[in-house]
Amino acid sequence: AKNGGRNQYYLFQPQLKTNADNYMTLVSGLTTALEKGELQLHFQPQIDLPSERVYGAEALLRWTSQELGAVPPGVFIPIAEANGLIVPIGRWVLEEAIRQAKHWVDQGCEEFVVSVNLSAIQLRDAELAGQVAGLLDRHGLPPRNLCLEITESTAIADVETSYQICTALGEMGVKLAIDDFGTGYSSLAVLGRFPFDFIKIDRSLVEEIVTNKKDLAVIRSVVALARDLGLQVVAEGVETAAQHEMLRGLGCHEGQGYLYGRPMSGRDMDDYLKRKGG
Ligand code: C2E
Ligand code: CA
Ligand code: CA
Ligand code: CA
Repeated sequence: AKNGGRNQYYLFQPQLKTNADNYMTLVSGLTTALEKGELQLHFQPQIDLPSERVYGAEALLRWTSQELGAVPPGVFIPIAEANGLIVPIGRWVLEEAIRQAKHWVDQGCEEFVVSVNLSAIQLRDAELAGQVAGLLDRHGLPPRNLCLEITESTAIADVETSYQICTALGEMGVKLAIDDFGTGYSSLAVLGRFPFDFIKIDRSLVEEIVTNKKDLAVIRSVVALARDLGLQVVAEGVETAAQHEMLRGLGCHEGQGYLYGRPMSGRDMDDYLKRKGG
């Protein structure tokens, strides 16, 4: 698994006998991943549902290890969080996403919003808002072209610090989204307090919207709640035209999922935007 083609997935290496061996291999690989240039950001389009125009994209981190092949973010991000590597990696992700967004804005997609996932560790660092301001300034990206996605568990890991950071970011004009809404990790507790602009409805709720009346009812009430709070709703994991129609009918504002496009390289996103328009 050297050149990291699309269909090469990380598998636990059979010669490594224990999970601990695997874990140590991952940690040491991750430690040098940045300097070896093994990390890449992919971008998944987000669509404005009423107009079907491209609204923006979520930046999703990819690691193609020379040794291990493509390791999924669900595997390596928790490891990076556990040993602090998420701090330099997260900073790289922010800068790379901002750099790309500036490129698309310059290509004429002036309203394009790039969304970046923040980990709890990053939201514990009181300097984060200042760092984001510095990156936006250095790259000349208006704050409204950046959205930061946080989960509730991220927000409450250190409520006071994360509240201050989010307030500062909101005042700067950076957008904020609560991610994975509708999973066990999100609820109403932080929704009213934090200055969110978007609620992202988790894929698990969207998945059965066509067949499961309860999921439909939950999404309908999330949309109503969002409207009362002045927030927009983004539906994640939209895979079928039936889901798309239903979500649009319910008043969801944006959609993201394989129906519109898989996560893709920045270069592929260039072509996507040329075809679909920003
Ligand atoms: P997430 O933030 O919930 O990201 C959405 C995930 O859903 C992505 O998985 C995306 O590829 C996948 N997805 C999108 N549309 C569809 C669809 O229609 N069907 C299905 N089945 N899946 C879809 P991915 O890229 O594997 O990322 C997994 C998680 O890793 C993310 O979940 C996020 O929590 C984390 N992650 C990714 N990049 C970063 C990063 O730069 N920083 C941090 N802190 N976390 C990240
Ligand atoms: Ca996300
Ligand atoms: Ca999500
Ligand atoms: Ca998720």
